[in-house]
Amino acid sequence: MNAECIFCRIIAGEIPATQLYSDDDVVGIVDVSPQAPTHLLVLSRKHFSSMTQVAQSDERLAGHMIAVATRLAREAGVQEHRLVVNTGAKGGQTVDHVHVHVLGGRQMTWPPG
Ligand code: AMP
Ligand code: ZN
Repeated sequence: MNAECIFCRIIAGEIPATQLYSDDDVVGIVDVSPQAPTHLLVLSRKHFSSMTQVAQSDERLAGHMIAVATRLAREAGVQEHRLVVNTGAKGGQTVDHVHVHVLGGRQMTWPPG
């Protein structure tokens, strides 16, 4: 747990969030500032700064995060959806705790912003 980290604080129950899913490794929550009708986040329970760190140290967790994100999309009724992992400032990452975005419920556009 990183006391400075907003997602660690959500996982610790110090900051409220709408939690949809929980297991030993990840937590699924609703994004507080939705960019689509469905906007969920899959957070690792353990603090990793980004997917770069997860991919280097725990490939199984990287895969699990994608699998859970896909399952939550289906459960939310958005079989057709977009998963996003922003990495680093140029990648658009604003919270330095690894997370996978689930976006759905509207037509996605390409290229992304
Ligand atoms: P990123 O820009 O990829 O790092 O995504 C961070 C996401 O976290 C954004 O979509 C924010 O809206 C979301 N977020 C920030 N604070 C909270 C919070 N307290 N509860 C839920 N989602 C949050
Ligand atoms: Zn954290």
